[in-house]
Amino acid sequence: MSPKEIEASSNGRTADFGSAYEGSNPSASAKQPVRAPNQRAELKPLPMPARFLLVAIGPVQKGLVSELGIALQQVFGAPADVGPAQAKPDYAFNKDRNQYHSTAMLRRLDAVRGRDRATPVLGVVDVDLFIPDQPFVFGEADRDARAALLSVFRLKGSPDGRPVAPEKLLHRARAEAVHEMGHLLGLSHCNDFRCAMFLSHTAADADRKGAGLCGQCKAAIGRP
Ligand SMILES: [Zn+2]
Ligand SMILES: [Zn+2]
Repeated sequence: MSPKEIEASSNGRTADFGSAYEGSNPSASAKQPVRAPNQRAELKPLPMPARFLLVAIGPVQKGLVSELGIALQQVFGAPADVGPAQAKPDYAFNKDRNQYHSTAMLRRLDAVRGRDRATPVLGVVDVDLFIPDQPFVFGEADRDARAALLSVFRLKGSPDGRPVAPEKLLHRARAEAVHEMGHLLGLSHCNDFRCAMFLSHTAADADRKGAGLCGQCKAAIGRP
């Protein structure tokens, strides 16, 4: 089974991004044409928001969410507030799959923002996420709704099945949090495997990259 991550939601509200949907099979990204650097932000990048909002949904390792907020601030330059932790997402649980429906959770993230709709929100979960056509997803971003979801569930393990060291999990989670937020800011996937916008197919891919963006991705969102 191959880990996947998608960059467009499947709820129909992000039709502009529909063709960018990926992860249906292991060769999908290999067949993806190499993008020229000036297409890195496929859509017009959004102005940098004044702040970000992060929330834990269900039990998440203590301190992790605030660490991810620090990573977002370092990379994007805007502070991240940690919102009130949300209840375990029982409403999204699918007992046949023993997984949680990512898109259902994404829809509810809108509500945690209150009236401040312009603030990009990242929900952090420690449950196994799926969308109907995929075995699982690491995360999902809905650019129009300015909401994204990141699961650390599959970032916690090593290939032999044992849990990785906490600092390694943090490294992975930082990179993937920046990745999801990068999508909300208009960035697409990057071919540089060291860049946070590189698409991780496995947790090991997240090991190779850092939370930082390559020069071209930075330029695409107007960061120095
Ligand atoms: Zn992505
Ligand atoms: Zn890049």
